[in-house]
Amino acid sequence: MGARKRFGQNFLTDQRVVQRIITAVSPSTDQHILEIGPGHGALTSHLTSFGCHLQVIEIDRDLAQALQAKNIDVIVGDVLKQDLAVITTGPTRVVGNLPYNISTPLLFRLFALDNIVDMHFMLQKEVVDRLTASPGNRDYGRLSVMAQYQCRPEKLFEVSPSAFTPSPKVISAVIRMIPRSDKPDVALPDLEKVVTTAFTQRRKTIRNALSSLLDENTLVSLNIDPGQRPDTLSLDEYVRCAKTIAEH
Ligand code: SAM
Repeated sequence: MGARKRFGQNFLTDQRVVQRIITAVSPSTDQHILEIGPGHGALTSHLTSFGCHLQVIEIDRDLAQALQAKNIDVIVGDVLKQDLAVITTGPTRVVGNLPYNISTPLLFRLFALDNIVDMHFMLQKEVVDRLTASPGNRDYGRLSVMAQYQCRPEKLFEVSPSAFTPSPKVISAVIRMIPRSDKPDVALPDLEKVVTTAFTQRRKTIRNALSSLLDENTLVSLNIDPGQRPDTLSLDEYVRCAKTIAEH
């Protein structure tokens, strides 16, 4: 099983892990499922057995051809270069054991779409821990706040390097993300501005970290302790800051 490093190819070979992912997804007939990076089809072959409408996106032409030969609907190319809105015109569930180098940009492209029902991804454990971290946790940062604004992330289980061939250097984890229908009412660029500004100076107090955007009295009026550190503010507190900078 040759693996192309540049495409982040670590193929899942542990069938117990494959089964746990399929059970977590539990596809049903008539659902549209989009699999990103199917590789040799470790997950794909199981997904097809549920009678769902399965479409896959694979960058490696040789792997794509092998899947096409099995009558799988393959889009050959880089997922980051596809117009995903055109591929997901109806309710779509997204699944993938992702190449880790593209996972963060891909997640934010998927968050921007309207029709995603849910997402199940194998990612680096470290990224899953950041996506799911709560305020005050050492993994809590910009990625946690921006992802939790977009979706409800849930860490399902960890996967050891020995489950893959070749084995990656890091521990992996499977995450479920359900897009929020109750997104806080704030303009995304304003939230991004506040959160990025705060976390570029995460060791300072929020009073100092946000001094270019909000003064101390405004923070107090928003019911935020100006002596807190950026990694202890909740999403809701960042939303309040973002709404205030939008008003000024
Ligand atoms: N799903 C398979 C499995 O579990 O064994 C393969 C997982 S492997 C970690 C990642 C897969 O994504 C590879 O098949 C790789 O060729 C593909 N891939 C890498 N970069 C991609 C991209 N930008 N767009 C689409 N597929 C990509």
